Amino acid sequence: MSDIGERLKRVREEIEESRRHSLTGEEVELIAVTKTHGVDVIEEAIRCGATDIGENKVQELTKKIEAIGPKVRYHMIGNLQSNKVKYIYRDVVLIHSLDRLSLAKEIEKRGGQTDDTVHCLLEVNIGDEASKGGLEYDGVVPFLESILDYEHIKIDGLMTVAPNVDDDAYLRKLFRKMFALKEDIENRHYEGVDMTYLSMGMSKDFNIAIEEGANMVRVGSRIFGARHY
Ligand SMILES: *Cc1c(COP(=O)(O)O)cnc(C)c1O
Repeated sequence: MSDIGERLKRVREEIEESRRHSLTGEEVELIAVTKTHGVDVIEEAIRCGATDIGENKVQELTKKIEAIGPKVRYHMIGNLQSNKVKYIYRDVVLIHSLDRLSLAKEIEKRGGQTDDTVHCLLEVNIGDEASKGGLEYDGVVPFLESILDYEHIKIDGLMTVAPNVDDDAYLRKLFRKMFALKEDIENRHYEGVDMTYLSMGMSKDFNIAIEEGANMVRVGSRIFGARHY
C-alpha cells in the first residue's frame, strides 16, 4: 500500500477507536484536507478510499474540481470572501465557514439566482482568537436567527478550528462547549435548521474532538504529510 493509503488507514482506525469512546457513538465523516497538495496526490487518496475533499482557498478548490471532477464531494473549509462565492457554491456539498451577514447575503443572492439551496455550517471562533474567522460563541444564536428566513441557505450544523495548542484539557473544554452549543440550538427547534454536523478536529486534535461529539473531522497533514507552500 502507498504511504497515503497507509496513513489514511491509520487515521481511520484512530477515528473508529475514538468513536467507540465518544459521547454520541455516532459515525464520523472524514474530510481529507488537500490544500497545497497536487492533483496526483489527491487522486491517490481517492484510490485509497477518500470520499470527501476539503480545501481552504477558492482558486485552489476550483482548479482541483476541474481536474478531478465529480467522483468525490468537495468542502469549502476556509475563510470565504463574498466576491468568490459565485465560483464555488454550486460545486461544494458544504461551506463550513459561514460567519458573517455579508457572506450570508451573497450566498442567499447567488442561490436565488440559480434556485440552489446552499448547505452551510456556522463557523465558531471557539478560542476567541483575534487571528481567526468565525462567530464569537455568544453571537452564534443571534446570527442564526438573523438568517432564518434566507430561503437558499440551509444550516446543517457547526464548525470550528481549535487553537493550535498542546493543552488537551483546554481543547477538550472548548470542544465540549461546541457540543453544548449544538445541543442548545437543536433544542430551539428552528424550522429548517438541522444540527446534523459538528465539524471539528484536525490532525493534532481529532481524537479529542470525536470523543467530545464531533461527527465530521478535517484531516490534512496526518494523511498527506507537511504542506508544500
Ligand atoms: C488546513 C486545515 C485543516 C487540516 O489541518 P491539519 O492540521 O493538516 O490536519 C482543517 N481545517 C481547516 C479549516 C484547515 O484550514
